[in-house]
Amino acid sequence: MPTLKILGTGSSTPTLLRCPSAISVVFPHKHILIDCGENTQIQMLKHNVKASKLDMILISHLHPDHYLGLFSLLNSLNVNHRTKTLQLFAPADLLDLLRLNFKVSQAILNYHIDFQALPDEKEEIFYEDEWITIENMQMQHRIKPCNGFLIQEKQTRRNIYETKLPNNTPPQTYIDLKNGLDIQDENGNVLYKAEEYTYFPPKIKLAFFADTKYLPHLADKIKNAHILYHEATFEDALEEKAKNTFHSTTKHAGMLAKNANVEKLIISHFSARYRSLDFLLEETKSIFPNSYLAIEGEEICL
Ligand SMILES: [Zn+2]
Ligand SMILES: [Zn+2]
Repeated sequence: MPTLKILGTGSSTPTLLRCPSAISVVFPHKHILIDCGENTQIQMLKHNVKASKLDMILISHLHPDHYLGLFSLLNSLNVNHRTKTLQLFAPADLLDLLRLNFKVSQAILNYHIDFQALPDEKEEIFYEDEWITIENMQMQHRIKPCNGFLIQEKQTRRNIYETKLPNNTPPQTYIDLKNGLDIQDENGNVLYKAEEYTYFPPKIKLAFFADTKYLPHLADKIKNAHILYHEATFEDALEEKAKNTFHSTTKHAGMLAKNANVEKLIISHFSARYRSLDFLLEETKSIFPNSYLAIEGEEICL
C-alpha cells in the first residue's frame, strides 16, 4: 500500500520544534523524496525511511530550507556504496551547485545522478512510468521557478470482494482473479468471472504545494485529490505578511481544499514564531473541516 511520511514541517528560520521541508512518498515500485531541507538525513534515520531505497528526489525550489540537506544525503549514499541510479528533478540552477559541491569536495560518485531540470514557466507531466505520472504546478513565490507536484496513479491493481468467495478458495485463485483472469473448472466452465469478483480501487491523486501565495486557479487541476499538502506559514491575521512574503495562510489552504473538493488537507511549513499549532488547525478547519497538521514522523496510508 502506498504511504506518505512527513519528515519536515518547519519554514526557513530554525526552531527546535520542527525541521525544514521533506516528505517521503513510497509506492510499491518507486520511493520518492519531495524536498530535502537541512537535517533530512537525520529525520530519515529517526523515522525509518531508508535512504538506500530512494529512487527519486524532487526539489520544489532553491530556497535553502528545501534543498540544503541534499548535499549530505548524496554524499552518504556514496559512502554507503550506492550503485543504483538516482533520479533528481529540480530547478535547472541546482546542477551548478551540485557540480561545484562535487568539485570542491573532490567527490567521485559510485552511482549516477540522472539530473533533469523541471519545466520552466509551464506545467506538464515530467515523469511517467507504468504506474504513476508526476506533473509540476507553477507556484508563485519570491524565487522563480518554484514548483508544486501532482502525483497520480495511472492504474491500480484489482482488489477482491473477499466475502464473495468461499473460505477454502485456493491462493492461486486469488492471484489469478487479481490479474484479471476468469477461473474455470476442469471442464472449462467459468466458476468466477474476474469482472464480478474484483474491483479497481480509486486511483491515488496527491497534490503537494510548495511555498506559494494563494493560488485559487489551481483548484480545477487538483480537483478531488485524496490529499492536498499545502503550506500554511501564517495565521489568518497575518494575511498581509503572507502576501508580502509570497506565502499562504491557514485560510488560503482551507479555501483551496474546499474549492477543489479534496478528501483531506494537511497543512505544513509553519513559521518559527508558532510554538503551539492548534489554533492554526482550528482556523483551517473553520473553512475545511477535514484538515490536519503535518506531524513529523507520521505515516499516512494512501
Ligand atoms: Zn520554505
Ligand atoms: Zn521558499
